[in-house]
Amino acid sequence: MGKQEDFVLRALEERDVRFVRLWFTDVLGFLKSVAVAPAELEAAFAEGIGFDGSAIEGFARVSESDMLALPDPSTFQVLPWRDQSRATARMFCDIVMPDGSPSYADPRHVLKRTLSKAAEKGFTFYTHPEIEFYLFKDSPQDGAAPVPVDSSGYFDHTAQSMGADFRREAINYLEAMGISVEFSHHEGGPGQQEIDLRYADALSTADNVMTFRTVIREVALSQDIWATFMPKPFTEHPGSGMHTHVSLFEGDANAFYEPGAEYQLSKTGRQFIAGVLHHASELSVVTNQWVNSYKRMLGGGEAPSYICWGHNNRSAMVRVPMYKPLKGQSTRIEVRTIDSACNPYLAFAVMLAAGMKGVEEGYELPREAEDDVWSLTDRERKNLGIDPLPETLDEAIEVAEDSELLAETLGEHVFDFFLRNKRQEWADYRGQVSAFERDRMLPVL
Ligand code: GLU
Ligand code: MG
Ligand code: MG
Repeated sequence: MGKQEDFVLRALEERDVRFVRLWFTDVLGFLKSVAVAPAELEAAFAEGIGFDGSAIEGFARVSESDMLALPDPSTFQVLPWRDQSRATARMFCDIVMPDGSPSYADPRHVLKRTLSKAAEKGFTFYTHPEIEFYLFKDSPQDGAAPVPVDSSGYFDHTAQSMGADFRREAINYLEAMGISVEFSHHEGGPGQQEIDLRYADALSTADNVMTFRTVIREVALSQDIWATFMPKPFTEHPGSGMHTHVSLFEGDANAFYEPGAEYQLSKTGRQFIAGVLHHASELSVVTNQWVNSYKRMLGGGEAPSYICWGHNNRSAMVRVPMYKPLKGQSTRIEVRTIDSACNPYLAFAVMLAAGMKGVEEGYELPREAEDDVWSLTDRERKNLGIDPLPETLDEAIEVAEDSELLAETLGEHVFDFFLRNKRQEWADYRGQVSAFERDRMLPVL
């Protein structure tokens, strides 16, 4: 038994923990949990806890369904929203097969594998997600439009604001679980909030995003309101993105930083952006995985629609932030496609793989977009070499089907499951007769 495992076993007694939830994530990004009694933990560390993988979305065929959840002791935290006597704790798990090999279906493994490949080249991958979400007065009612908890906008500070109280409570819980929050504010839509997590290695931030979603839902429940990470709940208000700031480190040095270079951006940084742009359409099905994701990106609301980069340009898909004074170590790029309803493990993995491809192949960075790219005509954008992102899930699937990068990064099993699942979602959606059609047609046809 290692030191970290010992630490957990001691913490169980010291903090009066009676339930330990073992957490992992399915392929679409839903959190799964199995509670074990503290007495079982020693065995869980040694052998894992068995479960039926075929019952988890995307995990296994029925004929190879036995899987084990192996808790990662470095992720042990007591849940602050449960009673602190007879407390409940959680650990994230790696999923392994009965022979001890990592499960090909485990999104955490997909990310770890991609991180190791980058580590072989000497790089560590850091991410900092800005997570947007909406708060509504009630739980979803069939077909009815949700009612936001407030009617404030970007950075608004209103006395007795529901949003500010909500954010304070959520941040207290997050920090109690070792998740540092850098900024939080009201976002552009009514009831829309944003909370930004501090920079950390991508595996920790992906775990943190999963915890974050749970915390937000728990706080909402306790305040009798409803929180959603749906990418675009309203036609007329901005959607919820999860802009992610990323950088590569070589040891202690930021590999994106080069003093004196344009925007202080090193060759590695430029090639990384080139990779992310070059493969953006292929990655779209993962970074924006739902039918609804594409409605967020149809233009406006500061969500990207075109494949381009810029500094200080919020219409660009990749932005090089220019806040002054920007210290060298914090040189980074902001990828603005990803939405709040992605699977963070897979989204970070494909982002890293695309960036690394740019670095390995020495991709050339296209010219930066200086204009507001939404206000250009199609012809102007074409002349500038700026292509659109996929406009629907269907288009995204089509590009993804031919993507070697995606197949290689996700692994054959996740790639196949993912595309099959998404094709089904599109087929279900296509068949829907919508309120839009009825409202337009019934009165006149
Ligand atoms: N809500 C916008 C999006 O969906 C982003 C707004 C912002 O710039 O923070 O990407
Ligand atoms: Mg924002
Ligand atoms: Mg942003």
